[in-house]
Amino acid sequence: MTPEEWKGKLSAIKDSFSSLISEHKADYETLYQRFLGRKGELSLLLRDLKDIAAEERRNLGVLGNAAKQELTAAAEKIKSAIDAHNQRCSSAPAIDITLPGVNFPKGSLHPLTQTMDRISGAFLRLGFSLASGPLVEDDWHCFEALNFPECHPARDMQDTFYVNAKDDRGKDKLLRTQTSTVQIRVMEKQNPPLRVFHPGRVFRNEAVDASHAFAFHQVEGLYVDKNVTMADLKWTVDAFMKDLFGSSVRTRFNPSYFPFVEPGAEVDMSCIFCKGQSEHCPVCKGTGWLELLGSGMVHPNVLKACGHDPEVWSGFAFGCGIERFAMLLYGINDMRMFFENDFRILEQVR
Ligand SMILES: [Zn+2]
Repeated sequence: MTPEEWKGKLSAIKDSFSSLISEHKADYETLYQRFLGRKGELSLLLRDLKDIAAEERRNLGVLGNAAKQELTAAAEKIKSAIDAHNQRCSSAPAIDITLPGVNFPKGSLHPLTQTMDRISGAFLRLGFSLASGPLVEDDWHCFEALNFPECHPARDMQDTFYVNAKDDRGKDKLLRTQTSTVQIRVMEKQNPPLRVFHPGRVFRNEAVDASHAFAFHQVEGLYVDKNVTMADLKWTVDAFMKDLFGSSVRTRFNPSYFPFVEPGAEVDMSCIFCKGQSEHCPVCKGTGWLELLGSGMVHPNVLKACGHDPEVWSGFAFGCGIERFAMLLYGINDMRMFFENDFRILEQVR
């Protein structure tokens, strides 16, 4: 055998050894017997060195021994990996399938969702149906049709975020500031009589503090029919509050101003914490009353804007902030807790 042939055989042996390893086709015993054992391919090749001329034999011998060390190390590495695996399997504790399983933490609905569900339930029981509307609104639905003409000072209290897009009348679109927009959406599409409610998110350009947020939630109820009076509004609001907070709750109306109603009233509920019995109640500040809702008789201009004759139809609307309800229901005193999503708070409200 020439030295070149010998070298060729050596490299063929190394190649087949490495391809067996890379394809995970051999265990330690197989590798050892095939390549390194007494009759292994490498051992036989080393033995063939004796037939090669002495001046070449020495160099080839160095190559051959280096290859033997390399293959031995690689084979032993596989052996120790297999041994370690076997060791782990034999020392792992047996699984006791009769033990109870691992408990996973259960999720729950967000307090605002729970509050919205309770409020929606109260509306549904009063015969109202659910309506919907978009968050990105146009000036008409958010202000103009709700009797906030341009330059009306009441618009200043509802500064919001504008979207880089124009509505049909060439005005910037905006994120709605109130759920009352849905009153217009519904009355434009449907003829009275109608009885709808809409809970949803609204936006204001506000600095965030314990009682203000740039995004919060409102719910709005609207009833339009023939001969609807303030008495209907008062009965409905009272029944709504009693459904949510219990039959002992009382309501009272104070005159107030909202552009889309006439007359308008704020609704107070008797304090559910002190029942009006404590001068030091931190929630009602000793007054015995909590201000909760805005309400009123739908303004004739709003009915007209939606194409309905205010001489024929009349209606009432009332609405409130859902965060305000949730704060009362769950005794939370900082609005930011609703959107910071701290599990320590959320887990207490289930
Ligand atoms: Zn109180």
